[in-house]
Amino acid sequence: MGKLRLQIRRGVNREVRRGIERAVAHLSSVFDLRHTIAVVVVPASVLGGPNGEHAIGAWDERRKRIWLAGKPPSPKDFDMPEGPLSNKEWVWTLREILCHELAHYEQWRDGREYSEEEADARAAAVDVALETEPPKTED
Ligand SMILES: [Zn+2]
Repeated sequence: MGKLRLQIRRGVNREVRRGIERAVAHLSSVFDLRHTIAVVVVPASVLGGPNGEHAIGAWDERRKRIWLAGKPPSPKDFDMPEGPLSNKEWVWTLREILCHELAHYEQWRDGREYSEEEADARAAAVDVALETEPPKTED
């Protein structure tokens, strides 16, 4: 039996932290985890990947680790005419990205080729399922 082992680095906002904790707790039972997967949330709005890409999430099969950018991007980083995202909006984004990366884990786990389209579809399906759950009392 696998599990998600969450590591939130210092500097990640408290609201984002709480949201990710909740998402990880949910998703642990949604995905069939046969490995222990570390979910590492860093206090940055983009990840500097090995190829210099500006990703928000990444699946690292060698270390069985998912990286997430824990800070909402600022309009300086991207072309964002609507202004900066709130922490809450960022949690929604990260949750969907976490689903996407977990879908890549499933592809790896099952020895299939990585597919972005399939990962997006799987993430959207899981996200819809989460949205339709009875609402939890917010603190
Ligand atoms: Zn992907």
